[in-house]
Amino acid sequence: MAQQFQNFIGGKWVPPTTGKYLENRNPANWEEVLGAFPQSGPDDVNQAVQAARKAYDGWRLTPAPKRAEIVFEAGEILKRNKEELARQMTQEMGKILAETRGDVQEAIDCAYFAAGEGRRLLGDTTPCELPNKLGMSFRMPVGVAALITPWNFPMAIPSWKTFPALVAGNTVVLKPATDTPWSALNFVKALEEAGVPPGVVNFITGGGSTVGQPLAEHSSVNVVSFTGSSDVGKVLGSTCGSKLKRLSLELGGKNAQIVMEDADLDLALEGVLWGAFGTTGQRCTATSRLILHKDIAKSFTDRLVAAARGLKVGNGLEPGSQMGPCVNERQRKSVHEYVEIGKKEGAKLLTGGNMLTEGALGAGWFYEPTIFGDVKAGMRIEQEEIFGPVLSIVTVGSFEEAIQVLNGTPFGLSSSIYTRDVNRAMRAIRDIEAGITYINGPTIGAEVQLPFGGVKETGNGHREGGPTVIDAFTEWKSVYIDYSGRLQKAQIDR
Ligand code: NAD
Repeated sequence: MAQQFQNFIGGKWVPPTTGKYLENRNPANWEEVLGAFPQSGPDDVNQAVQAARKAYDGWRLTPAPKRAEIVFEAGEILKRNKEELARQMTQEMGKILAETRGDVQEAIDCAYFAAGEGRRLLGDTTPCELPNKLGMSFRMPVGVAALITPWNFPMAIPSWKTFPALVAGNTVVLKPATDTPWSALNFVKALEEAGVPPGVVNFITGGGSTVGQPLAEHSSVNVVSFTGSSDVGKVLGSTCGSKLKRLSLELGGKNAQIVMEDADLDLALEGVLWGAFGTTGQRCTATSRLILHKDIAKSFTDRLVAAARGLKVGNGLEPGSQMGPCVNERQRKSVHEYVEIGKKEGAKLLTGGNMLTEGALGAGWFYEPTIFGDVKAGMRIEQEEIFGPVLSIVTVGSFEEAIQVLNGTPFGLSSSIYTRDVNRAMRAIRDIEAGITYINGPTIGAEVQLPFGGVKETGNGHREGGPTVIDAFTEWKSVYIDYSGRLQKAQIDR
């Protein structure tokens, strides 16, 4: 019988009102059941939101530096437990141990960064047009924040949202993806241990339509922060739009790395291998397209295909594994369907393209590192997010064409160019339509202190990370202080 985990509502671990649980399994070994997590329903959502609402005034009035101390302490707890948390995360979602250590580290970084904001949360003071009058603006919390997260960064993404939301004075209800409730629960336990007051952080697990949707719709939720697919983002866009509710969206990507003929090709090769096949390609910032200048296309492709064939696919806990499984059967099926689409579209399968079902790999959802050549701009495999270990290579004749191809999708999250020409690098920075551009680095590798997010269908203009995340979780209040002792009329007294 699998260990049963519970929801965290009003400072207590409680079973779901539905009485139902979902099994959490290891994608590298599907027989292995890691635990049973609540399959919650709208009543649980309601209880969690009510708890958050009840705790809000106490938390709002707790000085921000004190709120931040709890967040900082949660970071310290995560740091102490990093190795164990990383191992559990690899078991839960498959990425290799080096990467799950990185995921926990990102949550630690985020705790320290958000905690620093507790002594800033800066507003402005400004002169007024009338004498003996002061103008200032400051940040206020928004209220109850609903945080809905995906499975590919099971602790980092909850931390990007929760820590800044708390420091800014909001109370939260966190709903993780059904594939990764364990890592999110571990994250919440660190906050509990750090001393977060009851009701300030609430945690409920369950499906998108049974928990996510009612949570976003709840009339006592004031802000929704969502990271996930563009399809669900659009649904939430209409839900929140119809209620004029604040919504921050971090959605899909179709990121590209450009390699020009003047690039350091060894570096570019290492970069694309990491960007395309790290996290089994299941990153919103994964390198899904490689745009090669024609002069180096053939030789670079040959080397890349050889290197991809040499990648060791395996259980992420085994030393030497370089790429883990897809997160579940559905995801692997969807990756394989895209491979079939690519073939039908006339792209040339250079390596991979198969599910790995032999030996120990047969126990999980493993897929070969896959590369398509002869991909043309506009093909579906060049336009749509695949979210798996599939790389499409497009060959171009010029820098201008490279930028045009890179910009030619509905998404605009991450991007990269390898070149030794500083003028090209600067023009790329200016002309690429994306929220993130790397020069001589792969499309993955964001740090918490810079804004994170994208343009076009990747989001709705908000940015997580950096000081900008605070914008999602605060309202501005402008204050006018008139110490003249008389009625002064702006715009009229001149
Ligand atoms: P998903 O959209 O299927 O699910 C994300 C979360 O939304 C889950 O918790 C899910 O249960 C919930 N959900 C599903 N339907 C819902 C609904 N109708 N209402 C409310 N909540 C609902 O995404 P996923 O498969 O978990 O993650 C992969 C996607 O996330 C990819 O598209 C990837 O690009 C994107 N992603 C984006 C970023 C970013 O910062 N831009 C980061 C990581 C992942």
